[in-house]
Amino acid sequence: VIMGGPMMGLAQKDMDVPIIKGISGVLALTEPAAILEEEACIRCGRCLEACPMFLNPSRIAAVVRSEDVDPLPGLHVLDCFECASCSYVCPSNIPLSQMFALAKAGAQRRKQQAA
Ligand code: SF4
Ligand code: SF4
Repeated sequence: VIMGGPMMGLAQKDMDVPIIKGISGVLALTEPAAILEEEACIRCGRCLEACPMFLNPSRIAAVVRSEDVDPLPGLHVLDCFECASCSYVCPSNIPLSQMFALAKAGAQRRKQQAA
């Protein structure tokens, strides 16, 4: 179950959450759609072509996975507005925009701690 629509919504871990005013939609996927297996990046470049902010989603994802977050500001991860176009076109079903939402939250936290 995804709350907030098919592109920018968030997958719910369990159903003990309220539906509040700001929820634009609730999407209940059928089982085959919900269990798309993530595979390795094949460097096809589709995510780069799809990004309206001209970011490099595959590179950002590799950095996020490496846990060495220092290069993230240089890759302009904070410019990502989580449209999920990259996730949608990725043939490897990599949850790119979800990874970037977490990376952005981490980057904001570090920025606040440094201030
Ligand atoms: S679209 Fe997916 S598989 Fe292709 S380069 Fe981007 S992350 Fe890798
Ligand atoms: S989610 Fe972020 S990185 Fe992916 S296409 Fe949208 S703006 Fe670009």
